[in-house]
Amino acid sequence: MDSLKQRILQEGSVLSSDVLKLDALINHQVDPLLTMEMGKEFAKRYAEQEITKVITVESSGIPAAFATASVLGVPLVFARRKKTLIADPDAYCERVPSFTKGIVTDIMVSKQFLTKQDRVLFIDDIIANGDAARGLIKIIERSGAHLAGLGIVVEKSFQAGARTLREQGIRVESLVRISSLDDGIISFED
Ligand code: 5GP
Repeated sequence: MDSLKQRILQEGSVLSSDVLKLDALINHQVDPLLTMEMGKEFAKRYAEQEITKVITVESSGIPAAFATASVLGVPLVFARRKKTLIADPDAYCERVPSFTKGIVTDIMVSKQFLTKQDRVLFIDDIIANGDAARGLIKIIERSGAHLAGLGIVVEKSFQAGARTLREQGIRVESLVRISSLDDGIISFED
């Protein structure tokens, strides 16, 4: 998605050789028109998959996931991050390490909103090591829902997350792939 590449070059900043700050576009401020473009692109790529639900993890995945769900005309479910560790028999729960915060959080999805009748498209903002994705994929598997694939806004392809998922046979579509942040320079693949 060339428009997204341009905006990342203009408004992103490299914090270190593995962290890109995208607060102006994705992680703090959101551009509705650009986000709708993301949603249209994901919806196009998964148009044949008879998606019944879009799923993401709060909070940064929500805008692109909402845009995608809106174009596909299906509900959006976002996994919530839990602060307390009270077991809930009515929810699927997984523990995931957070790449940027360096802490572990629990994510949960109510069983009511994810069932084996669902064909799910999982949208997320950024994939690094893939821990967040793996946590939500485990929840989707436990629910019996079919995972059609992932739609990732920014794949950092120099980290292993997306590659590992593809090696497991999971479809991962990324709007832009960043091959390096070395020397403060954002390099794209293709
Ligand atoms: P992972 O679990 O794949 O290692 O990391 C995924 C999550 O960490 C993303 O949803 C994103 O919120 C955050 N994250 C990972 N890498 C970056 C980065 O370079 N910049 C920002 N802003 N967030 C990141």
